[in-house]
Amino acid sequence: MTASSVSAPSGKGRVLIVGATGFIGRFVAEASISSGRPTYLLVRPGTSGCPSKSNVVKVLQDKGAMILHGLVNDKELMEKLLRDYEIEIVISAVGGKNLLDQLNLVEAIKAVGTIKRFLPSEFGHDVDKADPVEPGLQMYVEKRRARRLVEESGIPYTYICCNSIAAWPYFDNTHPSEVLPPLDRFQIYGDGSVKAYFVAGTDIGKYTMKTVDDVHTLNKTVHFRPSCNYSNINELALLWEKKIGRTLPRVTVTEDVLLAAAAENRIPESIVASFTHDIFIKGCQINFSIDGPGEVEVCELYPEDSFRTLDECFEEFLDKIKENIGGVKEEENMDREGMVAPNPAVEIG
Ligand code: NDP
Repeated sequence: MTASSVSAPSGKGRVLIVGATGFIGRFVAEASISSGRPTYLLVRPGTSGCPSKSNVVKVLQDKGAMILHGLVNDKELMEKLLRDYEIEIVISAVGGKNLLDQLNLVEAIKAVGTIKRFLPSEFGHDVDKADPVEPGLQMYVEKRRARRLVEESGIPYTYICCNSIAAWPYFDNTHPSEVLPPLDRFQIYGDGSVKAYFVAGTDIGKYTMKTVDDVHTLNKTVHFRPSCNYSNINELALLWEKKIGRTLPRVTVTEDVLLAAAAENRIPESIVASFTHDIFIKGCQINFSIDGPGEVEVCELYPEDSFRTLDECFEEFLDKIKENIGGVKEEENMDREGMVAPNPAVEIG
């Protein structure tokens, strides 16, 4: 299929998404397709050898995505694809291990010169403001490097800082929304009082796509701060107890324990421990105001839209547990995110 055979609806430029088989990229790809934009996905060669990834590709293709094969660090190929498919918007959601692969993509975008917006792989905190301990810091150093290259290259950009995914924030799991909240005990970071913002994966995708051609987000950092999902971990624990109809014991995870888990330098677990420390001990999501000239807040930009609430997200987790208790075999009970209950045998209510 060529660009000329896929006409872009007026005002809806062609989107290329890198990393659609990943955790965040899939939400973005689903939202791009739903928005009616011609959506191209760069898929790494060899994905067909991995059933779960090739299944994701097929689902997205069935919904209308067009698949291109290649590596994002192949500058020549990227230039060719951007030109041949007349791409206007490029979104990268490469994972932590591959952040520097984006540098060649930035060079390709600069060489092509027609890309109207680039969203590098961010989808977390403002990496110019937050200062986690190692090994999390290294990831931010790499994200900062991509930012600086984008800015020096004069490429129109938007940085998405969507804060935490709506889920129980396990301190050793990169993708906590793929795991159900605990059924045995809560691990509470420090005194559990430091607040954070939680955003459903589908909303990360939906609001990301709203920004891609909005003049108000041009060369801006977009912060996601939905007031309905502004919670601390004590409040998350209470919400989950209300859902499951019983109380669970609390275990305190001290700052020292989190720092020790980070210092172990097990990748990726220690990276998550360093971010958990930054969020729930240091308050990195809330210790600054959004008032710089290059910053906007997503709820102020799109006040007519509403976020999925934590209550709704936790209700969905509860439904998953009920399905498990209903005797459905675990393999059959895997949803799009491969979600399983940590302890399906626990009685609810
Ligand atoms: P994943 O590791 O789940 O997915 C990475 C994706 O990038 C995969 O599709 C992978 O392909 C693709 N990819 C990697 N290297 C290349 C390459 N050279 N060429 C083409 N494709 C490539 O990433 P995450 O979703 O975990 O992370 C994405 C971003 O989101 C990161 O910036 C991360 O920091 C952030 N994040 C934010 C979270 C939050 O709670 N706010 C949670 C998790 C991540 P393949 O399938 O072939 O491996």
